[in-house]
Amino acid sequence: MLVRGTRTGAAAVRGRSPARPRKAVTLPATATMSSSVQRTSRAARYAAASARAALARPARYAVAPRRHLAALTKAPGRTALYDPAHERDNCGVGLVADINKNPSRVILTDCNEMLVRMSHRGGCGCDPQSGDGAGMLVAMPDAFMRKHSGFELPAQGDYAVAMCFLPQDEANAERARKSLERASRQRGLGILGWRVLETDNSDLGEAPLASEPRVEQLFLTKKQGWDARKFDQELYRAQAVAQLENFQIMSDEGVGEDAVLYINSMSPHQITYKGQLTPEQVLGYFSGDLLRDDFHTHLALVHSRFSTNTFPSWSRAQPLRQMCHNGEINTLRGNKNWMRAREGLLKSPYLGDDTAKLLPVTSDEMSDSGNFDGVLQLLTNESAMSLPEAAMIMVPEAWQDNDGLTDEKKAFYEYHSCLMEPWDGPALIAFTDSNKWIGATLDRNGLRPARYYETHDGRVLVSSEVGVVPWVKPEEIKVRSRLEPGKMFLVDLEEGRIIPDDEIKNRVASQKPYQEWLSTHTKYLSDWASQQKPQELVFDDETTARRLVMHGYTTETMETLLAPMAIGGKEGFGSMGNDAALACLSAEPRPVSDYFKQLFAQVTNPPIDPIREELVMSLVCPVGPESNLLDAGENNCARLVVEHPVLTPEELAALQDDRSRDGWSSATVDATFARDGADQPAPSPEMFGQGSDSALERALADLCERAARAVQGSYGRDGAAIIVLSDALAGPDRLPIPTLLAVGAVHQHLLKTGQRGKAALFADCGDVKEVHDVALAVGFGADGVCPRVAYEALAKLRHDGLIHAKMRNDIPSPDDVPDDAEIRKAYRKALAKGLLKVMSKMGISTLQSYKGAQIFEALGLHPDVVETCFSGTPSRIGGASFDAIQRDVVALHDHAWSGSKRQTDPAGAWTGVNHEDVPQLPNPGQFHYRNGGEVHLNTPMGMVSLQAATKSNSRDTFLSYCREVDDVNAKSTLRGVLRWRPDVLDKSSVRLEDVEPAKEIVKRFVTGAMSLGSISRESHEALAVAMNTLGGKSNTGEGGEDPVRFGDNRRSSIKQVASGRFGVTSHYLANSDQIQIKMAQGAKPGEGGELPGFKVSDYIAECRGTTPGVGLISPPPHHDIYSIEDLAQLIHDLKCANPEGEVSVKLVSEVGVGVIAAGVAKAKADHIVVSGGDGGTGAAAWTGIKCAGLPWELGIAETQQTLVLNDLRDRVRLQTDGQLKTPRDICIAAALGAEEYALSTGPLIALGCIMMRKCHLNTCPVGIATQDPELRAKFEGQPEHVINFFFLLAEEMRRTLQSLGMTSMDELVGAAGDVLEVDPAKLRSNGRPDKAMGLDLAPLLQSARELNPTAGYRHTQLQDHELGIKADNELMDAAHSLIETYAKGGEAEPIVIERETNNLDRTLGTMLSAKVSKACGKPGLPDDAVRIKLEGSSGQSLGFALAPGITIEVVGDANDGCGKGLSGGRVIVRPNLTQLEGGHFIPSENVIVGNVACYGATAGEAFFRGVGGERFCVRNSGALAVVEGVGDHGCEYMTGGRMVCLGKTGRNFAAGMSGGIAYVLDPDRVFADKCNMGMVELGPVEGEDIDELKGYIEKHVAATESTVGADLLADWDNSVSKFVRVMPTDYKAVLEKMKAEEALEATA
Ligand code: SF4
Repeated sequence: MLVRGTRTGAAAVRGRSPARPRKAVTLPATATMSSSVQRTSRAARYAAASARAALARPARYAVAPRRHLAALTKAPGRTALYDPAHERDNCGVGLVADINKNPSRVILTDCNEMLVRMSHRGGCGCDPQSGDGAGMLVAMPDAFMRKHSGFELPAQGDYAVAMCFLPQDEANAERARKSLERASRQRGLGILGWRVLETDNSDLGEAPLASEPRVEQLFLTKKQGWDARKFDQELYRAQAVAQLENFQIMSDEGVGEDAVLYINSMSPHQITYKGQLTPEQVLGYFSGDLLRDDFHTHLALVHSRFSTNTFPSWSRAQPLRQMCHNGEINTLRGNKNWMRAREGLLKSPYLGDDTAKLLPVTSDEMSDSGNFDGVLQLLTNESAMSLPEAAMIMVPEAWQDNDGLTDEKKAFYEYHSCLMEPWDGPALIAFTDSNKWIGATLDRNGLRPARYYETHDGRVLVSSEVGVVPWVKPEEIKVRSRLEPGKMFLVDLEEGRIIPDDEIKNRVASQKPYQEWLSTHTKYLSDWASQQKPQELVFDDETTARRLVMHGYTTETMETLLAPMAIGGKEGFGSMGNDAALACLSAEPRPVSDYFKQLFAQVTNPPIDPIREELVMSLVCPVGPESNLLDAGENNCARLVVEHPVLTPEELAALQDDRSRDGWSSATVDATFARDGADQPAPSPEMFGQGSDSALERALADLCERAARAVQGSYGRDGAAIIVLSDALAGPDRLPIPTLLAVGAVHQHLLKTGQRGKAALFADCGDVKEVHDVALAVGFGADGVCPRVAYEALAKLRHDGLIHAKMRNDIPSPDDVPDDAEIRKAYRKALAKGLLKVMSKMGISTLQSYKGAQIFEALGLHPDVVETCFSGTPSRIGGASFDAIQRDVVALHDHAWSGSKRQTDPAGAWTGVNHEDVPQLPNPGQFHYRNGGEVHLNTPMGMVSLQAATKSNSRDTFLSYCREVDDVNAKSTLRGVLRWRPDVLDKSSVRLEDVEPAKEIVKRFVTGAMSLGSISRESHEALAVAMNTLGGKSNTGEGGEDPVRFGDNRRSSIKQVASGRFGVTSHYLANSDQIQIKMAQGAKPGEGGELPGFKVSDYIAECRGTTPGVGLISPPPHHDIYSIEDLAQLIHDLKCANPEGEVSVKLVSEVGVGVIAAGVAKAKADHIVVSGGDGGTGAAAWTGIKCAGLPWELGIAETQQTLVLNDLRDRVRLQTDGQLKTPRDICIAAALGAEEYALSTGPLIALGCIMMRKCHLNTCPVGIATQDPELRAKFEGQPEHVINFFFLLAEEMRRTLQSLGMTSMDELVGAAGDVLEVDPAKLRSNGRPDKAMGLDLAPLLQSARELNPTAGYRHTQLQDHELGIKADNELMDAAHSLIETYAKGGEAEPIVIERETNNLDRTLGTMLSAKVSKACGKPGLPDDAVRIKLEGSSGQSLGFALAPGITIEVVGDANDGCGKGLSGGRVIVRPNLTQLEGGHFIPSENVIVGNVACYGATAGEAFFRGVGGERFCVRNSGALAVVEGVGDHGCEYMTGGRMVCLGKTGRNFAAGMSGGIAYVLDPDRVFADKCNMGMVELGPVEGEDIDELKGYIEKHVAATESTVGADLLADWDNSVSKFVRVMPTDYKAVLEKMKAEEALEATA
């Protein structure tokens, strides 16, 4: 059977009609043709593209027709928990250029098509006519301007155009014009006049219309005598000054953003046309220019934006003035702070003191891209740096451990690291000056896709996807390639050629003698330290114990935190989340670090992998005085390099030792204050929460003054280049200032006074003990810390025998216990690892970028504390003041010293204490419940009551459980201090029988995502049975599920898809009701999961597609989710994999989660989970469990508010989880916005869990969290107990509804402050009312309904996934009878379907696969039963989860995600034969498939005749893939299957590979340097492997006609010796063991 199909392009999307009448434009005949039309005349092509752009809407994230338009037409400012500062955007980027600078319409046409065809990478809000922003930067159309501008123009290059957005109001517009004219005249520019652009807004939605600016151009001329460089510089200066001045004037008058001048571009070379437009609207909107036939350009840069909001913003659209950006700058806060810090040193060599007029360059009002563009402009105009050089400096490649770089290049990067920290985060930066340079650069991680074509006629096309200019024929293409991590694609327009990455970088790196400068001027702390004699640790039983108590050490600190670090070099693990009281509600003294939670990347920017991708990470930092960034000379690198931010005692001594400091002066500033002045009156209620003039606050102010004076120099001394804040003088008379406060306050003070760039800032401290402390100190500005007392504590641990006690199994003799130095080394190593993990969670690669980036949220601190010490850090609920913190400091101090009998010297100074009354270290039970200690939600009494209640189904017992837990809640959680409003309760007259029945309410319950592997099969199945019986849902977790369960009530309704992709097949996905994408988990947001090898039994390994006994670490979700548009793609993939199911995205609460949820809703998730950071059952390092993620109360409330503000709420169902335990908890969750509720510990306790927290050890005594057969046999849990639990909950929830006068849960959803309020009595009765009374929970209780009254506030609409227009419908029609036949056990003739394809054919073959999997089960169809032959560039995720029996063959090339989740099908991609004619195009040297091909493949085959991108075959667990070269990170985390590479590989091959085999052709023997040898060994191909490999290559040749493969086969005996076999060590051991067992069996 031959079925031919055609695919319409961007213009012709079926089944859609425009929401607003379109303007009448005669449609050329070609406009209705496929976009893969034959290339016709240039005019016809342009006409077609223009008409498409003006008239058509492609498939993208539009919604079903709306009943109303409730999006706000003006962006709200900070409102309750919504803060616009957290808005994110990701995008599609592209450029087209004629490298010979020939202007034409073709370039514009091509670029417009590129823009329109990347619409699916852009965003759309609730109104399909309102885009998130799109635009085009073009070269100056000189001929056009001469004809249409109305001015007599001088020669090209002697005039410039300022493209402006002016305020709508004419008076404000005139002021804006005057600002620009004034600034221009001041800089000597001539003014020709203003041109009003002819724009057409008839196609715009209401939001962009409401904020549409006036678009006008100011024509300016060059002053006589200036050269081109001078003209560029003066234009830049005039632009910067005009904008700053106008902004200042308008800010002073308190007007909004829309009343301010915004200059899109101001250049003699280029103009930016952009706005809050959809990609298709760009040409039509600027119709007076861009739609005219005589508008020609030699290059264009395009950008379509996907914002997480629906609010209008014209200026945030891109391209900007010199660049556009796909990605996110994760370190923006730090970059802005450091730019501010160095402003005082900035002096343009051209402008001198006037440089100050250009400052500030960065601003909180601008996006990350806007700030980046501002700095880029500054560097290129006010320093000698070229555009490529500036881009190299701002986004450096990974150079520290990169053996592939020359010494010269390394020296260049090291030198420039002394000038500026990297702007770090996933980034594809495209840049141009339209005159000499156009190019793009990719960040060191290379997470963004960037493919390019070079054509024989001298054009280059770079974009996020291939196939976006479909009329470029294969035979026109000279080179198909991609931008690699850290590399630069560059065209020199003057030379008319592409400059290879190596050439430009070598050229730039050899401009100056950087190596010489470094060796002369740069100092290394390790060199200084090596000159110090080993420092004696001050340790004795008595004073050490007192110091430990004073600095907040507990027995848990020693045993749970320090001991594992000292022994194993890594942090200790825990499990079951964090159920201890929040610091702001705790009655215990808590360190200031406990008030901070680490932020983590989710969705809009990926976390990265600090373990497997360590090669891109670095802790090395230059510190100390900076020089003028704009005038780079040899002295700029006169800085001190610190290799590890945790200093050794010797390093600290070196910093304070004049003899070894090469002339660097240092000052040690005492960070203690007098105990005498710190007595406070007993807390008085009227003072609570007010803040006060405490001794601590005064001490901080004094510390800042003294530190600043030390930097400035005083009393005739030069300023210090090194500041050490030291609390070493703390003792019986003096209190230590908490290090975090000291560092934060001094850093902020020096920033504000412009002195931070003049000195390095270190802390010599007693209270820095664990990873979180170090992460905070550095994150808030310290250049390094010396944990002086922690070193003492380690010595004490050893001295007390605890180290030996814990190592007894490995070291029988105490004499062999590591010495103090070795223990310190292990401890520092653990801190470094932990710090890398904290950085990686935020997607930050270098400590230099992380430092001062303030990537934390304060939870429960008074605004005064935040402003003084942590200015700019999110803090939403107020809390503990300096006063309250001081009370904790005093309490610890007094406990440490009050029993001491002072010994003093003759002068009265303290010299020690006697040996009596030395305090014991306290144990408040922060990690494990302790009677009388810290409050925990899971109490022994609560557990006993719950188990009794669920066994007996007794309401009374259940109520005592609820009372116990709710009482604890009041002392520990935000929800605990709320109450139902008495005025609402008073009014209720609803009868209980009128309230929604419990059997309906229980359908809202879900059990948490606990993987099969982390818990036993018995408990996993018991949960599923219980939830299926109830009508609720259980969740597979990330470990897959045994297919035998799919057909019965042991099936989990929710199938989770995590980065590990364990067991994720077409069959698995098709058997779900909901597919949940795990972006983050409560137990450890931003980290991957871990399953120790001893829990990977044969059964678990089979379910997961891994090797028994081999431990599993899931990667963070950065392989196929780099941004919001990638998440949108994955949502689309999964929806196609089960069209009847819904797709959920699991997020974790943190500031900005609402904004992310808005992006997720726009990306068409049907369901969103906002987890609390305290939930989760999995194992993780304690830092992950305790220090990341915020309470769900904040997360769900922020999400509800933000979604309603954006009118996106009714599109999604919201769920929350995280220590939900009682009916009260759940009803509060509903009131704050949640419609569904996931519980984990409650159901586990009902099944018998006794909270031993041994889940990660496989020793669970009740058979739940174990795979040990003997322990599993002890499992006694019954599904009925879980069912009882949920019904008991539901019945009490009904009573709550009744008391609130409601009859259904729907009424309660989002009621917030209408029914809830803070209970003042609970705050007053808190153990520390001085802290609790400072809380302000009003933002939490803000009713979202009031924020946007016409918007929906709960889920009422289905997302429109637009599956009806997908090509798969044709495929399914064509294969329908065949599938039916096989489903009934019959046989049918194979079919062949032929069709053209293009990049809009996304996820092709997946809906067909779902149909096959549902009809035929896991075996699918017989091999090759359906063959789909495609011609063109296939869209993303070709063949996602392709089922057995389906073959997709592409003649052309493929985009990212090809063969992802391959589930038994076959994918073939090979080049067009016409392209190969003449032999100019060598497939094995060109890229044929994008990034993450075959990611998570479980079975099947893939053959690629050409080179693959980065991350090829990541997490392959069973497929065969053959390719002719791959990028970085090939076979990462692979656990099974085979991979054959017939060409070069990138770096980090096989990182984390624990199963399967790879064969790599390596004739030059260079592969070993590219391979990560951590888990694999290399060897020759021998024995039966030889035939196996030969068979794979034969298949490849048969499928693709590969000449590389054919040549190898032709000389096979010789060829085979050129291959290397990559074999995971553990996998090899398992195979050998299996072989031995088989042999034994055979013998027996
Ligand atoms: S009883 Fe088992 S499941 Fe419960 S916390 Fe302990 S080890 Fe984990």
